[in-house]
Amino acid sequence: MPADYHTHTPLCRHATGEPEDYVVAARAAGLSEYGISDHAPVRPEPFDDWRMDEAELPDYFDWIDRARAAAGPLPIRAGLECDWLQGCESWIEDLASRYPWDYLIGSVHYLGDWDFDNPKWLGRWAESDVEAVWSRYWKTYAAMARSRLFDILGHPDLVKKFSHRPPGDLARFYEPVIAAIAESGATIELNTAGWHKPCAEAYPHPRFLELASQAGIPLVISSDAHAPAEVARDFEKAIGWARSAGYRETQLFEQRQRKPEAL
Ligand code: ZN
Ligand code: FE
Ligand code: FE
Ligand code: ZN
Repeated sequence: MPADYHTHTPLCRHATGEPEDYVVAARAAGLSEYGISDHAPVRPEPFDDWRMDEAELPDYFDWIDRARAAAGPLPIRAGLECDWLQGCESWIEDLASRYPWDYLIGSVHYLGDWDFDNPKWLGRWAESDVEAVWSRYWKTYAAMARSRLFDILGHPDLVKKFSHRPPGDLARFYEPVIAAIAESGATIELNTAGWHKPCAEAYPHPRFLELASQAGIPLVISSDAHAPAEVARDFEKAIGWARSAGYRETQLFEQRQRKPEAL
C-alpha cells in the first residue's frame, strides 16, 4: 500500500481518536508510511471553528510524537493542511519554519469569506451561480499552485462536494489549472473522502486525473481521515483509478523532498 499523508487529529475539533488508534489502523492497512496533516492555524484568530489555534501547535507536535512512539517500524511523517487565502503567503512561510515538516498540503476551502465545503452554508450554494463559483475556484487553485508554497495540493475538485457541477465538458476548467500545477512541480492527491460525500466521487474526477498523469504531475493517494476507521479507506479502489489514469508510481515525502514509490 502507498502512504496515506492526509489525515487529521482531534485538535481541529471535528476529528476523533487517539494517535495510537490511527497508527494501529495504518499498520493494519499495510501503509508504507503514515502522515499527519491537521488543519493549520490561520491568523487573525479566532478564524473559524474547524482548526487548531496557533497556541495549540505544541499540542500538535506532542500528538505527532505520540504517534511516532506507537508506530514501531512504520514511518510517521509530519505535515499540515494549510488554507490558501488571500495574502496568506508570509503566514505559510512562518508556519513552514515552526517545525521540521515532511510536507505541507495546500487546500482551497475558502472563496473570499465563504468556506464553500462547509455543510453549514449550503444555503449560500443555493443562491450561487455554479459556473461563476467553479471559475473562481479553479483560478484560486491555480494561484495556489503558482505560489509554490506547498508540496501537495489537496482534493483538487473539492468544489464538486455537494454535487454542484456546471453543464458541459469540465475539461475547460481542468486544462488551465493542470498546466499551472505541472509548471509548479507540485504533487496532487487522489483524495478518497469524496466517495463518502454527496458528490459520491473521489477528488479529482477521473478525467482530471488522466490529464494530470499525461502532464507528468506526481500523485499521492490520501484518505483525509478524520477518524481511525477512515485511514486508508478505499485505497484499493483509488489505486485502480490511478492506474487507469496512467499512474505507475506515487510519491513519498521526507523533509520536504519527494521520491517515487512504485504503485
Ligand atoms: Zn477536516
Ligand atoms: Fe480539506
Ligand atoms: Fe483534510
Ligand atoms: Zn482536506
